[in-house]
Amino acid sequence: MKRIRIPNRIPKEDRGCRIDKFLRFFYAVCIVCIAALCTGAFADVGGTIQEETVVSLVWEDSRTDVKTTEWNERSVQIHTEDIGMRDGTVYDYAGVTLFDLMKLAGADECTKALVKSTDGLTGEVSAEDIRGYEIALVNAYADGKPIKANAGGPVKIVFPVTEHPELKESYTIWSWQWFVREIEFIRQQEDTASGEPFRPSADAVSEKPVTPPVSGFSGDSDKQPVNVSFEKFGHADQCVIIILDGFSGSYLSRLGPDSSLAGISEKGASCLTARSTYPSQTCTNHAAIMTGAGTARHGVVGNDRLGEDGMSSVKNIQPETIRVPTLYQLASAEGKKTAFVSGKDDMVSLFSAGLDVGVSNKRPKDYLSAPPELTDSSNDEYFRSNMDLAGWVFESLFTVLEREKPDLTVVNIQSADYIGHRFGPGSEEMTACIRAVDERIGELYRKMEQAGMLKDSAVIVTADHGMTPSEKAIPLAALSHMNFPAAGVVIDGRNGYIWYGGENRETVIQFFENTEGIRNVFERDSDEAVRLNVNYADGPDLFLETEPGYVFLPEPMIDFYHGQHGSRDDSDMIVPIICFGSGIPAGAGIESSDLRCIAPVVCHLMDLPSGAFDLGIPALLETQDRAIFGQ
Ligand SMILES: [Zn+2]
Repeated sequence: MKRIRIPNRIPKEDRGCRIDKFLRFFYAVCIVCIAALCTGAFADVGGTIQEETVVSLVWEDSRTDVKTTEWNERSVQIHTEDIGMRDGTVYDYAGVTLFDLMKLAGADECTKALVKSTDGLTGEVSAEDIRGYEIALVNAYADGKPIKANAGGPVKIVFPVTEHPELKESYTIWSWQWFVREIEFIRQQEDTASGEPFRPSADAVSEKPVTPPVSGFSGDSDKQPVNVSFEKFGHADQCVIIILDGFSGSYLSRLGPDSSLAGISEKGASCLTARSTYPSQTCTNHAAIMTGAGTARHGVVGNDRLGEDGMSSVKNIQPETIRVPTLYQLASAEGKKTAFVSGKDDMVSLFSAGLDVGVSNKRPKDYLSAPPELTDSSNDEYFRSNMDLAGWVFESLFTVLEREKPDLTVVNIQSADYIGHRFGPGSEEMTACIRAVDERIGELYRKMEQAGMLKDSAVIVTADHGMTPSEKAIPLAALSHMNFPAAGVVIDGRNGYIWYGGENRETVIQFFENTEGIRNVFERDSDEAVRLNVNYADGPDLFLETEPGYVFLPEPMIDFYHGQHGSRDDSDMIVPIICFGSGIPAGAGIESSDLRCIAPVVCHLMDLPSGAFDLGIPALLETQDRAIFGQ
């Protein structure tokens, strides 16, 4: 998902007209309650924008605030079809070009611009295109009428696609940002792996007492730690952890008993109904796998957090976000070589501490084939390029293993997540993706076996979370800004995170409890947060979780999301753990556990000093339950 930046609040006068269909319906049914809660805030429904809007231009250390009323002298008219409106109509807009804004910001040397919207999305425009085309921020139609919120106003970006259809290739719906509040001009730096390796503070590394295991999800919170005899797990010189992003445990039912995963499961040890940790998000669960800690301890609450300005949303991709040592750091301290091969570059950033070899499509290596580009010009292209990228990651993984001989390698295969989001977990595309991933894993197994690698390497195949079908949007960022302008809000799939910022907590809670599509509303210190293990001191004040079928997203984006995750539902939480290779007993079952059990297993296999893990090594069972494969 694209990320949020909320540099400004919606002016009070704008609030009423930023109401889409969903909101109108919602307000109609809850009008009494709303009137009581937010006196006067909605009196101007359908009205026009009276207050001028400010757009901030950011370039290096400077910030220039430009009022829309100052645009007149530079005004330009754009005659174009509007991809964001999805109606095929050709509009006459008035506004100012990005080129003029770039000049105004003094950003002549920028290489790209990030166009950030109030409702949580960011689009990217290359400086080359800013110079070559009349790409504009528009705030009115040619007849002077302002653009209303349900059409993306007061300020939105438009690309002259009618005159230059080639722009449709580069600037899909994601680029057509509504409610634009800030443009950040960037001088592209060469992407490099972390220069100075991050070392956790002495505090973070010092042995912390082992937190008693908190299972939290299946009513087994008072279950005692699984103190396993380690006899059955043996030794492996090297470990490879393959994380199939967004690969729900339920997907295995679409693979038969002859599939690669079924075969590998039989040759190794498996638990096909393990659980994610909460929230069932990518960064959170990669952190759980890599630290053996739950969210309350490792501190990676979802994929994004609130920025220091209290308004913007920041991706959790800095290694400092993780508050406990990772497997990389434990391995590195023992002189082991570490590698990450990823279809998501962000994961390489998040785990760059203690990482020796970081490979992604954005940081390829000379000795690897050129990575395919992930393109989104059509659904077909998106599907195809995702499959290509996953294939490239598998191929690169084997090359890295052969060439770099890392001791500990982590892999992210992005395709099931991206395809599940776009097409939905039940789609044909998803089934094709599941089968392709299965084939690739079979191929990898054969290659590793032929190369003799499985004699001293253990491989753990797992997933970070699952996926739930979605069809209805809750425009959480807009709702929060309209009603609680001082509050900070971060949207994250089926999770929403709120920081009160001085707003009345009871009013905020009551409002979201009464919002259609929101199923769970709980505070950081609540029993529920403790049970879900997300009571992290620096986390959000309030957690929101949607009902199945709903997702926190600006409404125009819903056509592009047919799957989402983040909740406590089985569809989002159940993931497989399948291990094979050196040190893994063949045919064993692994007692049902959650992703935090992987780090202790890896430490045991590799003889690394154990970290302060939440859980022990899971018990090994004499039999496996492979019924889901149909056997
Ligand atoms: Zn996802």
